[in-house]
Amino acid sequence: MARVPNPDLGDLRGLIACPRCDLLHHTQQLSDGERAKCARCGSLLIWPRTGAFLHVVAFSFTGMILMIGAIFFPFLKISAQGLSHESSIFGVAMAFSDGWIAPLALAVLAMIVALPVFRFAALIYTLWPLANGRPAYRHSTTVFRLVEELQPWAMAEIFIIGTAVALVKVAGLASVSLGPAFWAFCVLIIVIALKNSFMSNWTIWDAISQK
Ligand SMILES: [Zn+2]
Repeated sequence: MARVPNPDLGDLRGLIACPRCDLLHHTQQLSDGERAKCARCGSLLIWPRTGAFLHVVAFSFTGMILMIGAIFFPFLKISAQGLSHESSIFGVAMAFSDGWIAPLALAVLAMIVALPVFRFAALIYTLWPLANGRPAYRHSTTVFRLVEELQPWAMAEIFIIGTAVALVKVAGLASVSLGPAFWAFCVLIIVIALKNSFMSNWTIWDAISQK
């Protein structure tokens, strides 16, 4: 495996590892619009953009509002043989809230709702002072580390893909109409993708540690 020869391990802040292939690189400050890519696999490592922190805060706030709407508005309506049933995600979770399946309902609610909302809130906490040119709030490093560590567990996008696959099956048995919460989730995925396009983690770590 190719490595940077004798990296100065005394100052890890000057190093960045490629998230895809682990190659270590020495970092340097980039000017706006410049991008740093991995020398081996070409993965994007650092991409500072003007106003990026404010954009991430705005997208996080939008995401939180969409998520709250997505929980309580009707998600879908199923009709078959003259009977119909409409349900929200919160209603479904409550329907399974007792009995042996309750832990599963809780886990689903945590991963598709609670964790994404927590990550949005944590990003706003971390980036709001930085976006306004002020020093980071206390514990910003802990909060942002949590944002990174919880990323694999926040599954709003996976939920909507899973739902879409399940709907293809259900559509053959009953007529299904999608409610506002389903579309709120779809917009949420676009908002998350836009947020990620502005979010250069290295730039955020650099800004937090300069307080
Ligand atoms: Zn790489």
